[in-house]
Amino acid sequence: MEKTNGDRPVRHSQRKFFHRKKFCRFCTDSNLKIDYKYPAILNNFVTERGKIMPRRITGNCAKHQRELAVAIKRARAIAIMPFVVAEGK
Ligand SMILES: [Zn+2]
Repeated sequence: MEKTNGDRPVRHSQRKFFHRKKFCRFCTDSNLKIDYKYPAILNNFVTERGKIMPRRITGNCAKHQRELAVAIKRARAIAIMPFVVAEGK
């Protein structure tokens, strides 16, 4: 029999973003408010290109992710946040 010694596939985890416990930041931190008037907070949940991050990355719960999406869209609508950040540089 052949034994696989130290040959187990190493998963290359992508820890590009904060990868803590999968917990909704808004549920855990009551100081964090989802508000379209605070793009600084919303910006934590969009990619560099201005796209809303998926829930599996942000770890938000469904409720807050939804609120977040609404807030971001609202912020975009009133031009606080860009729809797409031009990829320049
Ligand atoms: Zn939550």
